[in-house]
Amino acid sequence: CGITARVGRGDAVEELVSGLRNLEYRGYDSAGIATANADGLDVVKREGEIDALCDAVETASIHGTIGIGHTRWSTHGPPTDANAHPHTDCRNQVAVVHNGIIDNYAELKSELSTHEFTSETDTEVVPHLIEEFLSAGYSPEQAFRRTIDRISGSYAIAAVFEGSDTVFGTRSGSPLVLGRSADSYYLASDVPAFLEYTDEVVYVQDGDVVAIRPDGYTITDSDEETVDRPVETVEWDP
Ligand code: GLU
Repeated sequence: CGITARVGRGDAVEELVSGLRNLEYRGYDSAGIATANADGLDVVKREGEIDALCDAVETASIHGTIGIGHTRWSTHGPPTDANAHPHTDCRNQVAVVHNGIIDNYAELKSELSTHEFTSETDTEVVPHLIEEFLSAGYSPEQAFRRTIDRISGSYAIAAVFEGSDTVFGTRSGSPLVLGRSADSYYLASDVPAFLEYTDEVVYVQDGDVVAIRPDGYTITDSDEETVDRPVETVEWDP
């Protein structure tokens, strides 16, 4: 299973999909991507091979310079198109990818009883909880933070919001790395996802909240204090 995210110059779709291909070695049963653009959020996801996702992407009108991607290894709900990630809220304001397990999803789901759920995943509580905070007037960043405060379990999560040029990510017990190239920023479960675009890597730590934007990135702790994580150059055989 794996996560990719990218903000930068030019269309994100190809880089998101190639990132997922580079994470195939981690195993998966479904794949999907979401982008943000002037019309809102586009989501394409499919049970099965990344080739099936690519076929679907070709006939869809998914585009945007900002996006997230996911390969799923099902834990809650069988591998189906509906259970594939990204998952969205009722109003299509946020799309979320998640690796791991949300331990308290059942409790959160009953709290969100007015929401219409479209999957059997534990993950889907995340976009619906974010929606609650957005409806209460919180910014995307604050809605993301407050949601993370409510969930327990093991997770790496990335989220993209309608009308925002920022991708937010966090982790707790599941891997997440940040990549920095001359004109783009990446999040991924592992370095190979973006190694063809950059070898500059920041290892995100449990509890970090990462925001990648076209002009830079910030990493903060749960108290919103900036944390310094070293940028490392990974070596590999070209
Ligand atoms: N628990 C989530 C699901 O079943 C995420 C699984 C994964 O790590 O890919 O959809």
